[in-house]
Amino acid sequence: MPAPSLPAFAPPRRILLGPGPSDVHPRVLAAMARPTIGHLDPDFSDMLEQLKALLRYAFQTDNALTFALSAPGMIGMETCFVNLIEPGDKVIVCSNGVFGARMAEIVRRCGGELVLLETEWGKPVDAQQLELTLRANADTRVVAFVHAETSTGVRSDARVLAEVAHRQGALVICDTVTSLGSIPLYVDDWQLDAVYSASQKGLSCTPGLSPVTFSAAAVERIRQRKQPVQSWFMDINLILSYWGDGVSGVKRTYHHTAPINALYGLHEALRMLAEEGLQASWQRHQACHEQLVAGLERLGLHLLVASAARLPQLNTVLVPDSVDEARLRHDLLSQHGIEIGAGLGVLAGKTLRIGLMGGSATPQNVAACLHGLGAALAAQGWAPASC
Ligand SMILES: *Cc1c(COP(=O)(O)O)cnc(C)c1O
Repeated sequence: MPAPSLPAFAPPRRILLGPGPSDVHPRVLAAMARPTIGHLDPDFSDMLEQLKALLRYAFQTDNALTFALSAPGMIGMETCFVNLIEPGDKVIVCSNGVFGARMAEIVRRCGGELVLLETEWGKPVDAQQLELTLRANADTRVVAFVHAETSTGVRSDARVLAEVAHRQGALVICDTVTSLGSIPLYVDDWQLDAVYSASQKGLSCTPGLSPVTFSAAAVERIRQRKQPVQSWFMDINLILSYWGDGVSGVKRTYHHTAPINALYGLHEALRMLAEEGLQASWQRHQACHEQLVAGLERLGLHLLVASAARLPQLNTVLVPDSVDEARLRHDLLSQHGIEIGAGLGVLAGKTLRIGLMGGSATPQNVAACLHGLGAALAAQGWAPASC
């Protein structure tokens, strides 16, 4: 077979305003281009300890067990479930979108006894409904929910949901993939037990890493398992041989080869978040969201989610019947270099998702998006007065 002769891949310049990945800062890209060293090199080990401290800041937690899994957010989700659930354990999954539905599927595959609490897409999970479901299922071991549902742009009240779950003695698994770095999240104050996120949304790093943090109660539950975790790769007890449990001194042994340069990138992205400050980052996301909503209203467009439950970092826009949403996204990408997201599931074809995550959340990007959207709508004959 002849060797293919191909030019190097040259990605086009884009502004990433979809549901992830978000724009990666040149500082992060530069960090990732630094020389690869060994994953057991003492200098790399020092960097990993710093990375843990930076993650504890981002999550607002003192949890010893805080680190990054070597795969995208989905492995964070799966790792939390396979470690906390044993076959036969009752688990309530609160589902109000695509990611809640995935949690439910993972519980089934773990052999857990699934109790599905479904909420209409576009609405937050209702704490009273959870309370009733818990009362009817007093032997529930785990309650799981998504803090920021990326498929709809809805924020659920993680603090209150966790409180309800703990009152009935259940542990809490919380998906913070789209919330970390973008909206207030306090893992310790809200008492979230097993929490996972991803590198490429609010943290504006490249995709492929999943920060996680586990409370002492979650660690205890994992220690008391009767059966070993069915996944070798995701077994926290084994992963800790490399990352350390944060309590005993770190003596790293080989588990799998850490994605070294990707971790340089996450370290730099987290350094940038710490430099800006969490509160400042949350405020920047909120300000960009308000700018976007005001502009969308001028264009005669409305959002799916009621204002109290809206995520600033993920805006689901209702597309008027007379407008072809796929053509809007195509025009934005081809003529303005801006990527926005399509609707998912029941919202496909009827909505657009505009992400303002991490470094993508700037007033300039919002203005460019509104300008591009206005032009793309006008090309389809949409005039704000016609709404
Ligand atoms: C993106 C996302 C995930 C999955 O993360 P990946 O990095 O794509 O694997 C999980 N949950 C939510 C809420 C997400 O938005």
